[in-house]
Parts: sequence; structure tokens; C-alpha cells
Amino acid sequence: MPWPTQPDTEIFDMIDREVDRQNTGLQLIASENFTSPAVMDAVGSVLTNKYSEGYPTKRYYGGNQVVDQIEDLARQRVCELFGAEAANVQPHSGANANLGVYLALLEAGDTVLGLSLDHGGHLTHGSPVNISGRFYDFVSYGLTPSDERLDLDQLRDLARTHRPKMIVAGATAYPRIIDPAPIREICDEVGALFLFDAAHIAGLIAGSAHPNPVPYADVVTFTTHKTLRGPRGGCIVSRAEHAAAIDKAIFPGLQGGPLEHVVAGKAVAFREAATAEFGDYARQIVANAVALAGALGERGFRLVSGGTENHLMLIDLRTFDADLTGKDAQNALDDAGITLNKNTVPDDPRSPFVTSGLRIGTPAVTTQGMGETEMVTIAELITRVLRDVGDTAEIAAVRSEVAELCAGFPVYGNDAGRPTTP
Ligand SMILES: *Cc1c(COP(=O)(O)O)cnc(C)c1O
Repeated sequence: MPWPTQPDTEIFDMIDREVDRQNTGLQLIASENFTSPAVMDAVGSVLTNKYSEGYPTKRYYGGNQVVDQIEDLARQRVCELFGAEAANVQPHSGANANLGVYLALLEAGDTVLGLSLDHGGHLTHGSPVNISGRFYDFVSYGLTPSDERLDLDQLRDLARTHRPKMIVAGATAYPRIIDPAPIREICDEVGALFLFDAAHIAGLIAGSAHPNPVPYADVVTFTTHKTLRGPRGGCIVSRAEHAAAIDKAIFPGLQGGPLEHVVAGKAVAFREAATAEFGDYARQIVANAVALAGALGERGFRLVSGGTENHLMLIDLRTFDADLTGKDAQNALDDAGITLNKNTVPDDPRSPFVTSGLRIGTPAVTTQGMGETEMVTIAELITRVLRDVGDTAEIAAVRSEVAELCAGFPVYGNDAGRPTTP
């Protein structure tokens, strides 16, 4: 049977418009990036046609000779990249990777420590609206009120009191280096498993810009689409002793057939992340974040923890304008072609839907080739919009300057990034 000859103009016109949006605006969402054309080729390949339930050489269906080699190579590459003993490359997302680890290593009702959501933790670290908080007894640790860093004394006290089965480290909105060594010590003292969720910083670790948690943690989970710059998905690396339980938990415990086109894309990204150029990229992400944070600080914004050591910063808007909410700031910046997200600041008096802060990340603009000079320009553009979020003329002016700036840093070259169909 031939496929329909009438092109699906509805969807492909929309994709075209999304290409334009990505090309003409500043992408400052800390969890986003531009993946390589090679990764996109793998993800758009015929591998999407194949069912491969199971693992290499242990599949439920035939015809997996090639797929087995692809998944094996993906596992081998990621183990080499992080110095890990075992890997599972099948999680469809970072959330599924975490859930798979919980399913593998915990019983329902077990006690777990995780970073509180309003101090930068992730929904899958025990939020009551997430399955993690429904099925497991999560206790939250937080940041010190003084310098807004991980409060290791509190973490140790909570660990001694609650004797958790597992301690989860890692964050979704925390601008500082997370040192795995002292957390390992606390885990050893209370006999807890150590899960390090490196979703945001996997690329910084691969590029040696941040300490590698793999030698310290029992299990490390991460997403492949954030700083690691691969396809949208998740991954688990672990000590060999946990590998069988984790494999069983991901399939058949949690997921069905793996997305082998995405697994191939992950393999491509792991190879890219192992290059010296990727190390340069990881260091530039951090240098850009430091430059952007510095320039925003000079313009009257308070930075949570006083600055950044990674790919993101949290801006507390209240020193700049006590009445400006994260929600209004996000909307005005969106109108100006500057895409980022509102975010709670530690102990935010406003709700998570309103917030007093913004989260800003540099992975995508760094992929585009922007450097410290452009970061100062971006800080000024943000400041001009936020001085008066009702000034539509100024927002329009900034929008055209943003488009001009982005035109100088085309992501995929002229028309690339557009699908070849129709
Ligand atoms: C992004 C993120 C996740 C979830 O990743 P998804 O692919 O969106 O499911 C998990 N943990 C942390 C810390 C994250 O930042």
C-alpha cells in the first residue's frame, strides 16, 4: 500500500514555524539544547519501525541482529564515557530512568531522602504529585539559608534520624557544583544506597567541567537531551551488582518496546560527547553562565547563591523590582523572543505558578557559538524588557535585536533543521 500522496501540510507547516521560532529567538531554558544533525538523522531513521522488547541477544522478537549491535555499542560508549560498569540505555525519559531505579532497588513505602522541590529538586525526587512521592516515603533536605548551598549538615542529620534506604542527589534548578564525595560518606554511615541524578549536568560531567559521580554513587541517572546534547531520552549507569535488577525494572517492569531509533541517537551523542571539542563546549557553557550571571548581577538582579558554577543561574527578581513576578517576566521575555522559565527561589513566598524568580541556562546559546560578549548583550536585552514589562514598543525593539543577534549564529546553517518531507 502506498502512503497518502497528499502532503500533511498542517503538521509540516507547524514544524516549519517551530524551526523559525528556534532560529529567531534566544533559547535560554536550562534543560534545552540543539542536538546535532547526526543525532537527528539517527532518530529519524527506519529504526523506528523495529520492535526489540528485551535486551541484546535476549529479545522477544526476531530480526534484531542489527539493533542488538546498535544497543550494545550505545551501552559500551556510555560506559566508557563515564567510566561505568553497566548501563541501561532504554529509559524513554529522565523520569522513567529514576522510576526504574526506584522499582529496581526499593520496596513501596521505603524511606528516601531527596532535595526539596522548592530548593531545586525534581518532581521525581518525592513530590506528592509524582509517583515517587505516592509510592515511597520521601523526606526532603534543602539548602542553607545563609549561602544557599546544599546543607550537608542537615542531610547528615536527616539521614541519621530517618535511616533511608536511598539518598537521591541531583537537582533541576541548582547553580552550584554538587560534590558527590561527602554524600557518599553520609550514605556509608547510614547504609543507604546513593542515586545521583545527573539529568541536567551529564554533559558537564562528560566534558570534565564537573566532578564525575560514577565512582561514588551506586547508580547515576541522566537525560540525554540537556547538556549532553543528544536525543530526548534517559539513561542509567550503575555498578555491575545492580545491573540485572535495573534491566528487569526498565523492561518488563516499567516500559514496553525500546525506542531503538532514539537509542541509536544516544549512541551518536555519546561518541560526540567523548571528543576534546565537547570538553571545550562544556567549559564554554560554564564560562557563558558565569558571564551572563555577572552581567545580570551588575544590573541589579540578585543571583541565588551569589552566582553560578554550572550551566544555569537562578535570578531572584525581588531586588530588581519587588512587584515583578516570575510569571510576568517570563511572558514579557517570551514576547521579546527570549525563551526561559519562571522558577521559585528558595523559600519563595509566591506559588510555583507565579514565583519570584527566573531560571536561565546557557547550553543552547553556547551550542550556537555565542560567547561571553554575547552574554553581556543578552543580559542587557533581558534588563530592557524587565524594566517595564508593559512597554510594548520596547519589547518589539528587543525582539528585532534578538532576531538580529540569532541570525549571526545559525544553528543548523541556512535551511537545515527543516524536515525534507514534504
Ligand atoms: C529533567 C530532569 C528529569 C526528568 O527528565 P525528563 O526526560 O523530562 O523525564 C529528572 N531529574 C532531573 C534532576 C531533571 O532535571
